[in-house]
Amino acid sequence: TDPRPDAADEERPTDGAAHGFDPAARLAEREARDLRRDLTPVDRVGPRSRTAPDPGGSPPEYEEKRLIFAANDYLGLAADERVRRAATAAAEAVGTGAGASRLLTGDTGCHRALERDLAAAKDAERALVFSSGYATNVGTIAALGADVVFSDEANHASIVDGCRLSGAETVVYDHCDADALADALARREREGADGERWLIVTDSVFSMDGDVAPLPDVCDVAERHGAWVMVDEAHATGLYGDGGGIVQREGLADRVQVQMGTLSKALASQGGYVAGSEPLVEHLLNAARPFVFSTGLAPPAVGAAREALRVARSSDRRDRLWRNVERLREGLTSMGYDVRGETQILPLVVGEPAAALSLGERLRERGIVAPAIRPPTVPDGTSRVRVAPTATHTDGEIDRCLAAFEAAGRAEGLL
Ligand code: PMP
Repeated sequence: TDPRPDAADEERPTDGAAHGFDPAARLAEREARDLRRDLTPVDRVGPRSRTAPDPGGSPPEYEEKRLIFAANDYLGLAADERVRRAATAAAEAVGTGAGASRLLTGDTGCHRALERDLAAAKDAERALVFSSGYATNVGTIAALGADVVFSDEANHASIVDGCRLSGAETVVYDHCDADALADALARREREGADGERWLIVTDSVFSMDGDVAPLPDVCDVAERHGAWVMVDEAHATGLYGDGGGIVQREGLADRVQVQMGTLSKALASQGGYVAGSEPLVEHLLNAARPFVFSTGLAPPAVGAAREALRVARSSDRRDRLWRNVERLREGLTSMGYDVRGETQILPLVVGEPAAALSLGERLRERGIVAPAIRPPTVPDGTSRVRVAPTATHTDGEIDRCLAAFEAAGRAEGLL
């Protein structure tokens, strides 16, 4: 496959430069397919934000407040006073930036403390934090150096890019289908794969489908062949089990060799982590290029993540989130929407990009932000609106969201 994701869209330059680029033509081509994306500034992070739909304005011109139902800040901790204070305290005590790679002078006590907490939360020997979840996946998969990676077809783009960068042969299996995975491994075994290193990689909670990988079955398949399993818990960390994610909820920490996740969603911060064995972490610390060649995570992000992890594990925030999810799911289902998934992420698949854009726009007119999700984030023909409540939405706000969905769905002929 062509390693340049946009290469197929590429137009020859029209400005007379024989070896130049024509980004305007490429934008126009996206626009024609309803696939152009825009920024929508918000005045602050949280479920109640003012939005500025015209990204051209600088400073942005904000409209009246809207209710955000699309954030990954599932527990509403990005605006939580305890978490904000922890970020400030880390900036005061340690500094605003790490100043260098962890391997030079950027390895502070607060990084070590967060890694200890993450390892404990994940029932793992040790953890290592990276500057983003994206960098974690790309760096870890590349550094593992598998010969073959077996990857769920709906895995996140950062996993896909990690597979590409690793140079491994990548076998994509049907979404959440452990039988298809078993067949793929058995086929490879028959072809003669002696001595190959195999990695099976899957999200636990899928960010666009809201469903959960069949992890016990995945581990069974892996163990039949002696392959390793890597699980991306970006949308599960802080939410499932004792906050350790689906791997922990299912009691699989001993069977999943590489647990990764991000600090940027329920943990209300920025950065990613890997948790696993001591030798694994030591290897990554030496070989994962985004760890070696990138500045250590900023101390305020470290402080915030550490406090958010504590709050997520010890408070009733998760109960509040599940109550909101159920209220929203029941309401949407009873008005006739086909709500997929079984997690805090509620996808409403409508089909073509234009239909999803139009539903998103009608919601926005009614004060609700739940934007369209289009290819290449999701497969062609499955554009959708992805609804994600947070723990800090009130019952009244959930009901306002439902009323907007009812009116918008009727106006769009979806109900
Ligand atoms: N993995 C998954 C499943 C994700 O959804 C995301 C973020 N969208 C990432 C990894 C990347 O994490 P980050 O945003 O911290 O770079």
